[in-house]
Amino acid sequence: MLTTVHAAAGIALAGRLKRPVWLIVAAFSSHLVLDALPHWDRILPYNLASFFQPNWLWLDFALAGLVTFALPAWFKLRRQCLYWLGAFFAVLPDGLTFLDRFIDFNPWGWHDAFFALHGGIQLVVTFVPGILFQLGTLAIMLFLFIHKAKQDV
Ligand SMILES: [Zn+2]
Repeated sequence: MLTTVHAAAGIALAGRLKRPVWLIVAAFSSHLVLDALPHWDRILPYNLASFFQPNWLWLDFALAGLVTFALPAWFKLRRQCLYWLGAFFAVLPDGLTFLDRFIDFNPWGWHDAFFALHGGIQLVVTFVPGILFQLGTLAIMLFLFIHKAKQDV
């Protein structure tokens, strides 16, 4: 699932869950739920050289940053760091998966089970239906965020 959609879910949750601990749990969980919905997926780079080449990933990251920082600022919401926190934890499983390709870090043994879960729940479909489904999901997340944000202004 695109980072932008995960980030939008994170800020939508942040508007509703003001306690950081619940927000962290819900945002992290939302990632796994969204990954189980039909989506087209960009390939996470397998090495640093491919990471720095211009590709879909950078457009997705730029849009995710816009969603995370510009939308709460646009609505002049209080406690904007909660929205950043929500987006961060909603995106974190992909960040961990990416880091796992470069860093061998498995101190408690949970690591393999988590990556098996994250990899196993993906419902990847072809580009057109996958993108359309994600745009619909993104629209719903942005609607939920904006609906709450307008009440909080
Ligand atoms: Zn993921």
